[in-house]
Order: sequence, then structure tokens, then C-alpha cells
Amino acid sequence: MPRHADRDTTLTMPTRYGVSGWIHQFPSSKVPSFPRFRGECTADVVVIGAGLTGCAAAHACAAAGLTTILLERGRVGQGRTGRSAGMLSPDPGPAFRDIAAAHGLASARRVFEAWRRGALDGAALLRRLRIPCALDPREALVVAGAADERLLRREYDARHAAGLDGAWLTRPQMHSRLKAEAAAALRLRDAFAFDPYRACLGLARAAVRRGTACFERSPVTRVRFTRRFADVITGGGRIRARKVIVATGSATPEFKSLQRHLDPREAYVVVTECMPAAMRRELAHPRVILRDLRVPPTRVSRTHDDRLVIAGGDQPETPPRTKATAIVQRTGQLMYEVLKTYPAILGLRPAYSWDTAYGETADGLMYIGAHRNYPHHLFAIGGGAHSVTGAFVAARILVRAVQDAPEKEDEVFGWTR
Ligand SMILES: Cc1cc2nc3c(=O)[nH]c(=O)nc-3n(C[C@H](O)[C@H](O)[C@H](O)COP(=O)(O)OP(=O)(O)OC[C@H]3O[C@@H](n4cnc5c(N)ncnc54)[C@H](O)[C@@H]3O)c2cc1C
Repeated sequence: MPRHADRDTTLTMPTRYGVSGWIHQFPSSKVPSFPRFRGECTADVVVIGAGLTGCAAAHACAAAGLTTILLERGRVGQGRTGRSAGMLSPDPGPAFRDIAAAHGLASARRVFEAWRRGALDGAALLRRLRIPCALDPREALVVAGAADERLLRREYDARHAAGLDGAWLTRPQMHSRLKAEAAAALRLRDAFAFDPYRACLGLARAAVRRGTACFERSPVTRVRFTRRFADVITGGGRIRARKVIVATGSATPEFKSLQRHLDPREAYVVVTECMPAAMRRELAHPRVILRDLRVPPTRVSRTHDDRLVIAGGDQPETPPRTKATAIVQRTGQLMYEVLKTYPAILGLRPAYSWDTAYGETADGLMYIGAHRNYPHHLFAIGGGAHSVTGAFVAARILVRAVQDAPEKEDEVFGWTR
């Protein structure tokens, strides 16, 4: 959240349920407005969906000299991106041991290396483009209680044997560094915290500067294809393209046959009010992202204006009539989980709490690449709560695919993995 947030005011504010703090705190007068798409034209690439994935892909395509059109159904960045927790993680989410069991050791190593590179690439790009999004380096700590310490040790050993990054922290080390109650932790470098909405708006602007034509309120209703090209149909017209990148977050109704690959789930994010000075001192090290090993996991980060960002509570999607109750219940639960690790936050109140639907893949990894039933299409969809990094992993893979120069390693994220 930006520094101008008024600490005293938020102390007395009731919790805003269902509202993303990132989007709410962004001055509405500064939200860029892009036109609706109308007419007929051609392009090398049409990108469907202007979340972080679509914007990163459009920027990369335009930077590679391809004529690129970006189409957004609603407003740029206000899908899952603006409702995520803003943790740019070097870890794809699932355990290394699980990915190695499902896909083999070499593939698992590739996935984890690609993810770490994705986090570094993303941070480097946001810095190079000077996008003001409160980007801040962090250590990512996977934290175990006494009950799951052995499980974490096996994960550490497997990563260590595969030559991946990671250091082991003992209980005293955790306590002296973080004043947190934990039996042990796995420490990863190259994580970042940022404001995902600001990052997305900045990337959209950068893509436009590179020549991308960006349109909002322009839902794609259909994509027809022949042997040589695809026709992307919106309410306002048609675009004939060589490649269509589908970055819609999940499998939307236009790609119904892919929905069976994605399990509809939801997760929650709570952003607290700003912590008073005494509480901040008690918490010590501010530059960490903590994740526990519970199912579902809870993740905690800290904004640069000293709010806690708490994400978790993943569950199957709830029906609309119970959503309001579920948000209030999950908010209380997430605050309580963190209180157990950090007793010092007693009395801290949630300022914002919101839910987001997502499509979870069987192995927890994003699908990136072509699908044999959809000629000229490239997808970057699915995945869980660590897939903001996937935007930057996907952008590289997609540009290579558009240029017909895929690398063998890219298949690790493909539909046939
Ligand atoms: C609660 C929660 C917290 C999370 N926190 C984190 C985190 O801290 N770190 C992390 O790495 N990941 C996190 N994630 C995952 C992260 O939110 C997403 O992976 C990421 O934001 C996805 O970005 P995206 O661009 O792929 O999707 P989106 O941001 O959802 O963008 C897709 C866009 O496509 C548009 N669209 C859909 N259909 C059409 C159509 N027919 N025509 C035109 N446009 C269309 C949508 O309107 C939307 O704007 C979290 C997820 C959840 C559920």
C-alpha cells in the first residue's frame, strides 16, 4: 500500500470486506483508461486478458517487434492480479518432492529453476521499466511446527540433493531472527513483495509504449481458426492474427473443453491496518515472507507501510449466497493463524479482506504453451497462489513459441507434461 495511507484513519475504519486493498488504495483519477476495441484489423499476436500474465506477454511480444493487440474483458489488472497477495515467489508452490514424484527429478529441477529465474526476471523488468510498485526484496521462509519438522527436513534434503537454493534454519535461529514460534524453517532467496495492481498497470503502459494496442471492456466472445490464422471475435469487431495468447487466468467459457483440467477453488487475502511502532518492534525482521506447511497453507508478508498481508484459506469455491459469511469467517481464521506465530499482533485489525476464485491444476503448476485442440493458440492459465511469478515465466516461453523457436525445457509446463 502507498505511504500516503493514513495510519490514524485506518485504525478506526471498519474492515472492507470483498474489496482489494491494492485497487482501493490506488487513486481513481490515475487509473489509465483504454478504449473499447471496434473494427477489423490484423496483428501478429492477440493477447486475451490484461492481468499480469497478459501484460507481461504483450510487453515481451511488442519488445520482440511483433504487432500486438491486448484485449481485456473488464479493466486492466482488476482480475486475479489486483486481488492477489503481492508476493513474487521463487517457489512454484507445490513441494519439490511432489513435483519430482509426478514428473521426474530433471523436470522438477527445471520447474524450480524456471520459477526462481521468473521471480528475478520479473523484479529486474519492473525495476528497469521504473514501475512504481513498492517492489522490495524478501527472504521466503517455509516454516514448520514440531509436527511437520521432519516433512520439511525431507523437502530440504531433496532440494539440496538436486542442487537447488535453500538453507535450513533451526528453532533458535528462527527465534532470534524473527521472534517467531517455529521448530525450523527452509530459507529461500530471491523473493519480492510488491503491489501487484500497480505492477500490472505499469506493465500495460510499458507494453503500449512498445507499440501494443490495448483495449478494455472488450470481451472476446469467440476465436475461430483456419489452417493459417485465427480470427478473434469481440462485440466490437474482429482481429485476424497469426497467434492468440490466452492469459485469462482460468479456462473461461470460450475454452470450455479445458475446464476439466482446472479445479474451481477460492482463496483469501487479508491486509491489516498499519501496525503501531511497539508492535513493529516486536515483530523484528520485516523483510520476510512466511509460509507454513498446514493444508491449506497460510502466507504472511509485510507491506512497506507496515501492514501485514495474510493469504490462505484455500477451499473449493463457495456458492454466491454463502460468500459474505465465508469472507468474514476466513478473515477471523487467518488473523488467528498468524496470531499463533506472532502473539505480538494481538489487537491488530483487518483493514481489507477479499476472496479470489482460481483454477487449480492437478499438480499445482500453470499450463503454459500450445494445446493440440486449439491451433494457433498459446495458453498461460491455471496454477495456485504462486503464479504471479508465472507471468514472467510464461512471457519468455510464449515469445519463443510465437517466434516458432520453443526450447525443449519449455515442455515441462505444457499440456502433455
Ligand atoms: C487469494 C489469492 C492470492 C494470491 N496471491 C498470490 C501471490 O501472493 N503471489 C503469487 O505469485 N500469486 C498469487 N496468486 C495467484 C495470482 O493471483 C495469479 O496467478 C495471477 O494474478 C494471475 O494473473 P493472470 O494475469 O494470469 O490472471 P488475471 O489477473 O485474472 O487476468 C486475466 C484477465 O483476463 C480477463 N479475461 C477473462 N476472460 C476474458 C475474455 N473472454 N476476453 C477478454 N479478457 C478476458 C479477465 O478480466 C482478467 O483481467 C494468488 C491467487 C489467489 C487466488
